[in-house]
Amino acid sequence: MKTLVLATAGHVDHGKTTLVRALTGVETDRLAEEKRRGLTIELGRAYRELPDGRVLGIVDVPGHERFVGTMLSGVSGIDAALLVVAADDGPMPQTIEHLRILSLLGVRQSLVALTKTDLVDGHRVAEVTRQIQELLAASPLAEAPIFPISAATAAGVEPLETAIANLRTEDRSLDALFHLAIDRSFIAPGRGLVVTGTVSSGVIRVEDAVLLHRGAQPAHPARVRGIEVAGRGTDQASAGMRCALDLAGPDVDRGTVGRGDWVSDPAMTDVSDRLDVLLPPGTALSERRRDDMPVHFHIGAADRAGRLALLGDAAGDGQEGTWARVRLSEPVLAVTGDRFVLRDGSAQNTIGGGIVIDPFGPARGRAKPDRLAELGALAEADPRTALEGLAGFGPVGQGLFARRRGLPEAAVTTLLQTSPRLFAVPRAELIWLHQDWLSFLEECQAAVEAAHSAHPELAGMDRSAFLRALSVRPQPGLLDAALGYLTETGTLSHRHGVWAHPEHEPKLSDGDEAFWARIGPLLRSDGTPPPVVHELAKSLGQDPEVVGRHLVRIARAGRLVRIGRNRFVPPGDLDRLAAALPQMENGFTVADFRSTTGLGRNFTIEVLEYFDRAGITRREGDRRLIRPHTIAHSAT
Ligand code: GDP
Ligand code: MG
Repeated sequence: MKTLVLATAGHVDHGKTTLVRALTGVETDRLAEEKRRGLTIELGRAYRELPDGRVLGIVDVPGHERFVGTMLSGVSGIDAALLVVAADDGPMPQTIEHLRILSLLGVRQSLVALTKTDLVDGHRVAEVTRQIQELLAASPLAEAPIFPISAATAAGVEPLETAIANLRTEDRSLDALFHLAIDRSFIAPGRGLVVTGTVSSGVIRVEDAVLLHRGAQPAHPARVRGIEVAGRGTDQASAGMRCALDLAGPDVDRGTVGRGDWVSDPAMTDVSDRLDVLLPPGTALSERRRDDMPVHFHIGAADRAGRLALLGDAAGDGQEGTWARVRLSEPVLAVTGDRFVLRDGSAQNTIGGGIVIDPFGPARGRAKPDRLAELGALAEADPRTALEGLAGFGPVGQGLFARRRGLPEAAVTTLLQTSPRLFAVPRAELIWLHQDWLSFLEECQAAVEAAHSAHPELAGMDRSAFLRALSVRPQPGLLDAALGYLTETGTLSHRHGVWAHPEHEPKLSDGDEAFWARIGPLLRSDGTPPPVVHELAKSLGQDPEVVGRHLVRIARAGRLVRIGRNRFVPPGDLDRLAAALPQMENGFTVADFRSTTGLGRNFTIEVLEYFDRAGITRREGDRRLIRPHTIAHSAT
């Protein structure tokens, strides 16, 4: 099924509901209060089939200034708008405010109905037509045609119908993860909880698992039992369609879900309360340079209290407008590219709007020049261009990028495969520019060469030595990925947290060499723990401090590993002990390990604590798990 979603807009009493009735035969003012007051309070919905087979869905919005929030919840994700202006009144405050909202939400197709022409003369029709044209001229809807109409005589309704039938259904990406902003929920007999709204992105099918996002509460799992589009049961709905979803799940009932909540693909687990946004040029906001302005943030069907801070001019970052940070009292489900509208703190006036650029703004450094430049890259509509731009600032977390864009991780993998510039850093879940990755590998290698020539007596570099040597502090996971790669390819050798050139032979002084010749045999394992420093000193008849200093230098040269203050162990022995770690699914205890090695308790604990620090094992309570494929970190 293909649909066309149209929303009305315009001042109260200008004839929106009457026109919807004339177009569809449906009376959308159904509440008793609406009938009594002759006023739309809730969103109305009417459907009819178009000649080309598409189903037209009209959302009839309230025009009264008190219900602009409701109007906003009805116009998110629509294909087109029908702005209604009465010929007797002409443009009024909500004509202007609704027009502004449509522009801010990026609605690209609009028609104007000039109603109640039966109440005025031709002169007045011409005058109001001119006023409307002037209003539109300054907006993105300048091209919208104007149709003079009388609902009383049905004059002019037909040409409007034809124009509606010729509106395009906007193309929307179906690659993104499914989500829908809920604008209504109710309990239907035999169906349970039903939520309605326009699908923002992706596709939803009957029996799909979903997550319900309800303000600050944790996301709640549910299942789709049924889908209705335009009042008809169907097995799927896709982006841009208005639909009703029957939901089932533990704890899913009325009162828990409603307008301003979201239902999404289970992969969209994160909600946002700290968003970085772009305010387009010309919004009144840019003149009100206040650091912490109270606002109402309207996104999807939600209205959240929040605070807005301007961060800087976007012109230098390749975008037009102003960067801003929005902090919300309660989180929303947002992705890059989502449109929003801002009303002032008292919810009286629409003061601006814009586009979400990063739904997960960082806690620190929000206005630093680098961060704003990064926002410039993120703002690119094409995800591949955005990812390539972003990767220029350093490695990008694959999962975070997917979550920001609302894309499945597979879509990001495809982007990666089709971009020769991008590179998936092995085992690190990071994406970087291939060129920058290669430079980083070179920098790591160069650091090792430099270390060897400056300190030929050392075995090589540990992790902290790399962090000191590198020009920029690498992102978490990146250094390990690079060192792992260099080790696997044989460019570097790695032993017990120390990386070196494979041919590097650390040079000991003659004194240390002579000392090593004497104590080497004493330390070699024969199934008993190697002696600690003072035991060695005793059997050599030497000062423990002197012995300790020899041992430290020998350990730095890689012939011993210092696993405790007073304990030095040959690396080969540690390798054998690591290979003997008990492979037990729920981890092993000290006793388990002792029963395989037969070693004493104190030494066993020292070894295991060393393995924990080296990243070979992970301790959980009194059990330990062997870490899969980890790169041993420096233990010292
Ligand atoms: P809305 O608030 O914009 O939805 O306005 P309504 O559709 O509720 O209409 C407000 C009033 O204007 C109602 O009493 C309608 O009957 C009347 N009305 C609407 N369209 C026309 C029209 O074209 N001609 C005349 N004479 N009255 C109209
Ligand atoms: Mg109405």
